[in-house]
Amino acid sequence: MNLILLGAPGSGKGTQGALLSTRLNIPKIATGDLIRTAMKDGTPLGTRAKEYYDQGLLVPDEIILGLIEEVLQSPGAKRGVIMDGFPRTSGQAEAVDRLLHARGQQVDRVLLVDVPEEELVRRMRRRAALEGRSDDTIDAFRRRLGVYREQTAPLVAYYRERDLVSVVPGIGTVEDIAERVKLAVGR
Ligand code: AMP
Repeated sequence: MNLILLGAPGSGKGTQGALLSTRLNIPKIATGDLIRTAMKDGTPLGTRAKEYYDQGLLVPDEIILGLIEEVLQSPGAKRGVIMDGFPRTSGQAEAVDRLLHARGQQVDRVLLVDVPEEELVRRMRRRAALEGRSDDTIDAFRRRLGVYREQTAPLVAYYRERDLVSVVPGIGTVEDIAERVKLAVGR
């Protein structure tokens, strides 16, 4: 089963993806985590990504597409994956379709974790205090929200045309939201 988690930064899709991954025993892959690891390790990809990452901008598709290809073609992804933080652009969405089709699979469901903007900003401030991520400044966060609205939110229409989208209200306790996710996924 191939699931995509869509949602603004701070919507909690990573938390829900991790729970779902454990429950369904399907790996969760987060491009943001892969990029943070690459930056920490100082790999060429990490070095190229950092200037965009720190400003809250999307890392260009030419860098990300190779990463997506690598993860979707890995043996661990054979039974499906939970995609957290990708695709984020139409080019990435097309690449995901192409790579899955090449192995006789498809996107099975898209969960849109929906959280109002004021709540997203509150959560970001809390996370900045706890984790100190370099893109959790108010300026970078506002930019990330803008980037989400402009480049990623249009993917909702792309998947709605195929009737794949379930909206999951992302407010409430982690357990409440997990229950909604379960209903949306159907297992
Ligand atoms: P995240 O951890 O998903 O919030 O991602 C943090 C940052 O990593 C984003 O603001 C981007 O700079 C970069 N990033 C993560 N995933 C992608 C992606 N699929 N495409 C482009 N940039 C990404």
